[in-house]
Amino acid sequence: MKVPRYQRPAAWRFIRRAMALRCPECGVSPIFVPWRKVRSLFDWFTPLDGCPRCGYAFEREQGYFLLSIWGLNYGLVGGIFLLVALWIQHRYNPPVRSAWWLLLLPMPVLSFLFARHAKSLFLAMDHYFDPHVKPPSAFAQDGQADERDLDRPIDDDEDGREHLSGS
Ligand SMILES: [Zn+2]
Repeated sequence: MKVPRYQRPAAWRFIRRAMALRCPECGVSPIFVPWRKVRSLFDWFTPLDGCPRCGYAFEREQGYFLLSIWGLNYGLVGGIFLLVALWIQHRYNPPVRSAWWLLLLPMPVLSFLFARHAKSLFLAMDHYFDPHVKPPSAFAQDGQADERDLDRPIDDDEDGREHLSGS
């Protein structure tokens, strides 16, 4: 089956941006504090609030990155090492009490180093499959714009906010 041309480069662009820890929307602004300026674990693990260039919000909601930590980071690092361990066991069949499993010691370190990319990849995946930035017309149609106005009439504009549906 032939993959449509327009779909492929987009996905790769998203992955490339994620591996470079760049904003998934514009691909320019960094998602994290540059590693030279990291002073704490918080700096290392926490993405910036959003992209100053295109306004893309990196953390959509609280606990947004939970899946990236468990699914991507833990899953990938754990999965790779599990495969390596199974392969060693199968290939060399070492005794249970031998020290080969000391190889697993770098796992937490790898997990730590991979944490940023896990979040970044998750962000890119999420943005790819469920684009956060939608054209205004689509935004008004898919019901999200109406949601916050459910408890009051749309024309009741006393706070002066602009309604997307109005323009
Ligand atoms: Zn951006």
